Amino acid sequence: MSTRVVVVTGGAQGIGLGVSRAFARTGWHVIIADVDEEAGHEAMSFFQEQNYLGRFVRTDVSDEAQVKSLIASISETEGQLDVVVNNAGIFSGGPIEELPVDVFDRVIAVNLRGPFLMAKYSAPLLRKSAPGVIINMASTRALMSEPNTEPYSASKGGVVALTHALSISLGPDIRVNSISPGWIEVGDWKKSKNRTSPHHREVDMTQHPVGRVGVPDDIASLCLFLASNESSFITGQNFVVDGGMTKKMIYEP
Ligand code: NAD
Repeated sequence: MSTRVVVVTGGAQGIGLGVSRAFARTGWHVIIADVDEEAGHEAMSFFQEQNYLGRFVRTDVSDEAQVKSLIASISETEGQLDVVVNNAGIFSGGPIEELPVDVFDRVIAVNLRGPFLMAKYSAPLLRKSAPGVIINMASTRALMSEPNTEPYSASKGGVVALTHALSISLGPDIRVNSISPGWIEVGDWKKSKNRTSPHHREVDMTQHPVGRVGVPDDIASLCLFLASNESSFITGQNFVVDGGMTKKMIYEP
């Protein structure tokens, strides 16, 4: 296949959908691997309307057998894989004394075990199209925290460290980088209590030196760059895409 092939986990909604569409718009063949079948089929209807190339494969990234079968299916059907975007992620937390341990385990399973499994099973195929590329979705919460977010923060800190380790183990055939988005106006943002109230909107705007929260295309454009040969000297890095939020001190004169 001369067309380049990318798999985007969690690509059926939110940031992942924005990333999937951006790759497809620029002529890539996009495999959306997502646990949500309905959203996956909806994403594919849009692909068909736009004459985009790609398909949906229902996959739970925390499940080893499902990840193996996803990669086997790509090997058989497309025969090639150039880029993996490990975007699937969930958020859950609460006061640590009351937090069921299962919640911690599930967040780690999706957010950290998922990218590990994807890297493990896709590496042989990515190597064949050397240089292959892996892009892991971390979070600014890997770098700073608010109360009661231990499972998520730990999982995303793990994603940043996994990225370093993989870049060394898989180089020079595969480049591995991570992206740490700040607030992106999808998924978590919309689910957050009161996040869309006028007061919170005002607070969120002033929190960002660029004067706005992010949109999926802010992340997608970096994915396209990291997937391209324009970034051939970049590996093992974590890119913070947060409108400057993590650089802003709270200062009361
Ligand atoms: P979202 O909830 O809108 O979308 C996540 C997608 O992942 C969904 O389609 C969901 O079905 C899929 N998914 C969930 N569990 C899965 C599993 N086990 N296997 C396969 N697919 C699964 O979330 P989003 O806000 O678009 O976040 C995407 C990524 O970006 C996540 O890793 C998230 O942690 C990270 N992130 C988001 C923000 C933000 O502000 N939205 C900020 C920082 C980091």
